[in-house]
Amino acid sequence: MRRGADAGPMPDPVIPTAPERQALSEICDWALRLAEGEGAPKFTAAILHGDAEIARARNEVAATCDPSRHAEIVAIAAAARRLGRRDLSGHTLLSSCQPCEMCLAAMRWARIDRLIFAARRESLGAGFFQFGALDIGDLARASGHAFAYLGGVGEARVLPLYRPQDESGDA
Ligand SMILES: [Zn+2]
Repeated sequence: MRRGADAGPMPDPVIPTAPERQALSEICDWALRLAEGEGAPKFTAAILHGDAEIARARNEVAATCDPSRHAEIVAIAAAARRLGRRDLSGHTLLSSCQPCEMCLAAMRWARIDRLIFAARRESLGAGFFQFGALDIGDLARASGHAFAYLGGVGEARVLPLYRPQDESGDA
C-alpha cells in the first residue's frame, strides 16, 4: 500500500481473530441462503466486540424503499441502539462485500476502526460503487489511516452473489 504525504501512521495489518472469522463465515452463509430464496445480490454485515456479536443485519434497501439501508448501515445503527451510544470504538465491522463509500463514512462516524470483508471490489461485477475513481485505499489514506481493513476473506464462496448486475448502489 502506498503512503500519502498527508497520511497518518499505517495501522497494523488486520489478522482476523477466530470469532471474526466465524462471524464473517456465518453472515456469508446467510447471504448465500438469502440469495437462494430471493435471488442475488444479497448483502449482510455484523458488528463484533471481542468475541461478542453486537448486531447482525442484511441489506434493507428494497424492503424499506430506502437507498441508504445498506447492511452495514443497518448493523451499525442496530449496534449503537443496543449499546445506547454512538461511539463504537474497538468494534469490528464485518461484511459479506466490500463496504461502499457511504458505509465507510458511517463506519467512521461510529468510530469503528477495524473492518473485515469477503468480496473485494476488484473481484465484483460493475455497478456496486458510486465513486469508481476512489478505492478503499484512497479512503483509508484520506482518513489519515483511521481504520485498518482486510478484504478477500472467504471471497470465493460469495463471489457468485456479486456477479454483473443490472442495478447499482446496493453494496
Ligand atoms: Zn454501503
